[in-house]
Amino acid sequence: MEPFVLQRKKHDDGPVLLELKGWTDAYPALTAGFTTRSGGVSEGGCGSLNCALHVQDDEQHVIVNRQRVAEASGMPFDAWTCAEQVHGNHVHIVTSDERGRGRLNRDDAIQNADALVTDVTGVMLTSFYADCVPLLFLDPVQRVVGLAHAGWKGTVSKIGPATIHTMMANYDCRPEHIRAAIGPSIGPCCYEVDERVLAEVNHVFAACPEARAHADTIIRPTAPGHAMLDLRELNRQLLNQAGILTTNIECTSWCTGCHTDMFFSHRMEGGATGRMMSWIGWRMT
Ligand SMILES: [Zn+2]
Repeated sequence: MEPFVLQRKKHDDGPVLLELKGWTDAYPALTAGFTTRSGGVSEGGCGSLNCALHVQDDEQHVIVNRQRVAEASGMPFDAWTCAEQVHGNHVHIVTSDERGRGRLNRDDAIQNADALVTDVTGVMLTSFYADCVPLLFLDPVQRVVGLAHAGWKGTVSKIGPATIHTMMANYDCRPEHIRAAIGPSIGPCCYEVDERVLAEVNHVFAACPEARAHADTIIRPTAPGHAMLDLRELNRQLLNQAGILTTNIECTSWCTGCHTDMFFSHRMEGGATGRMMSWIGWRMT
């Protein structure tokens, strides 16, 4: 069953959001999901719910969009905590002092971090996407949440396992308690890559028998030096190898490339596009 479920809109002109419904139903204090491109005020290629400040968009429009998502997600805008993503594998632990960083401007964002984790109630972790894979993490026992941005570079540099290891090292999370969700992103139907990327994926296979066992699913050759890549499946296998139970990993079937009416797609729209946002956090109750 699709884990990311369309949320009923509170207002007619409100943002169209996908909620990680299995998690938020099980833990009512949790908010977690993924935005679409609809229900905001941005124009042109960023129309209309662009949530990121680093693309060509009017900053005031982005702030209005973010405030709309904040209201619909049940988390105050003050709680939004943003990082400057660099397609790396650094995981940052968000403290209560950092609550709200980066929500109004990029200078103030947490720098050089593609994954965020926290156990602080009232902090909403955010990250931004147009095809890359969002990885959401939840340890309901230690009440820790995490969010990682996994494009192909983040995936092959193992940002998913790095996030899990940070949760274990800093919060005593046990891998068998951690749940993971792989969110809307470009699917194997739309994501052709070249030798440069395939070499890195083969490098991962060399060190990860779980992933190598699924190589025929993860890589489907199309032409010499080219193949369709299933980044979600590669992430799933890496999370599994890092200790997450297969039954605790949920994966979307939403492809951002197939549904440009609903999502921004960097690949399908030639880069001149907006960004969706993934979010997770414990609400103050
Ligand atoms: Zn597709």
